Amino acid sequence: MRAAIYARYSSSLQTAASIDDQIRLCREHAAKQRWTVVHVYSDAAVSGATILRPGLQGALAAARDGSIDIIIAEALDRISRDQEDVAGIYKRLSFAGVALVTLSEGEIGALHVGLKGTMNAIFLKDLADKTRRGMRGKLESGKAVAGLSYGYRVTAVGERSIDEGEATIVRRIFIEYDQGLSPRQIAKRLNAAAVPGPGGRLWGPSTVVGNRHRGLGVINNEIYIGTMVWNRQRFVKDPDSRKRQARANPRDAWVRVPAPHLRIVDDDIWQRVKERQGAYEHKPLSGRRRPKHFLSGLIKCASCGGGMSAINQTQFGCSTAHDRGTCPDPARINKKELERRILTALECNLVRPEAFAAFCETFTRVMNERRREQAVSIRGREADLAKVTRELDRFVDALAQGVPADRVRERMVELEERRAVLLAQSGQEEAPGPYLHPNMAEVYRRKVSELAASLSGEQTAAAKARETLRSLIDRIVITMAPEGPSVDLIGDLAGILNVASAGAIRGSTVAGGPKESRVAGHRTSLFLGQERISFRASA
Ligand SMILES: [Zn+2]
Repeated sequence: MRAAIYARYSSSLQTAASIDDQIRLCREHAAKQRWTVVHVYSDAAVSGATILRPGLQGALAAARDGSIDIIIAEALDRISRDQEDVAGIYKRLSFAGVALVTLSEGEIGALHVGLKGTMNAIFLKDLADKTRRGMRGKLESGKAVAGLSYGYRVTAVGERSIDEGEATIVRRIFIEYDQGLSPRQIAKRLNAAAVPGPGGRLWGPSTVVGNRHRGLGVINNEIYIGTMVWNRQRFVKDPDSRKRQARANPRDAWVRVPAPHLRIVDDDIWQRVKERQGAYEHKPLSGRRRPKHFLSGLIKCASCGGGMSAINQTQFGCSTAHDRGTCPDPARINKKELERRILTALECNLVRPEAFAAFCETFTRVMNERRREQAVSIRGREADLAKVTRELDRFVDALAQGVPADRVRERMVELEERRAVLLAQSGQEEAPGPYLHPNMAEVYRRKVSELAASLSGEQTAAAKARETLRSLIDRIVITMAPEGPSVDLIGDLAGILNVASAGAIRGSTVAGGPKESRVAGHRTSLFLGQERISFRASA
């Protein structure tokens, strides 16, 4: 049986055994099973995006071309921590007739692939529940655990009292809202008066009014009438963007504990504010409940770095200027124009031959950087080898000078083994070339056209297309210039590759790639016509 070893180092894995350790353990296992190790692949860099892991790509290529029968890894999470990824890789290996064996799980089967992910998910949920229970117990025993609300300060561990300065502002907000000022007006006035908001940040409409159903925002916080509320929302992770999202808990799951000493406003004004809020919410304000635009949340104002949102039917504008009145040079752009420019940039510019050449160049450069990182680990290995050899030499000298062999035998055997491993590894460092399908540009262009077409199509397809487009875009920065707004599109290389290679690498889904590890991104900008596209690869 011909085996390939795959090792990955990631500091985020709980047991961060070094690549060398993993390879050594896998070799021992292979020797026991009488398998011949024909290749060793490793990925030193941390990356969640499978496609950007040259080592794993190499192992998969070897499986595809039939040069191996087994892949050995220390544990399934070395292959990937993502269940979808693992499933895709497993499918490919089964298709190629290659077995996947890990030291901790044994031979991986279809059931295994599903179960392990499920077990992980259950474990995480269980942990979250336990944490919540613990916090609830503390709350019921009178200790404050949730975040500290505006208007209070901590006096002792878990105890809080009213901060008179902030309490005055809380009362002012209630009074102004009761008098008919909008949350936006209230926020702008507070900012203009240089009153620092919660956490020292600026005031905005959401700090003032928040979300009534989740009890967020000053006028919805029952602490101001002397009731502590906990468990209003919980956090879930979006499977595509990996971002934490707040979800409202049902009201009967809220935990209320009286805390009369924390009351700041009286029941009368609280009641009036609630009534006014109710009236406002029921008013069928035209367009107030507009469906969210598919680019919302991604557009940034270059001047203040803040977000941009729909400020009327046709335009996106700087939210900082709109909500807080504090942006020095607010950006504005027509919605239709922005959509058109973004889609054109994604669809056409990237497949112009010169643009695709630049794209490939970026890809290759990132790959080369990876390889240099690998070279650093090779140098480390060489240093190790020199050290082991020196130590062995010293032992030989010691023996020659009459030190009893019994005392040094064990250590010497150990060193000899280590040296053999290091020597074997140094012969196999040839990193595989970057895997770029020659048709990728064309596939990519077609996918994006399909996406653009489905945007205006049937509802579910449109929703899916919006989601995918969003996954390609990290952010869109609008800068105001005399000749009109300029658009910077900052995208995720891994996401773009995922769209182009959907079906080849990640099964049939066209979802965005895993993005959690997008730290220290390499960025390259392409100037294409009037749009600048920056690709940032997952590091
Ligand atoms: Zn701005």
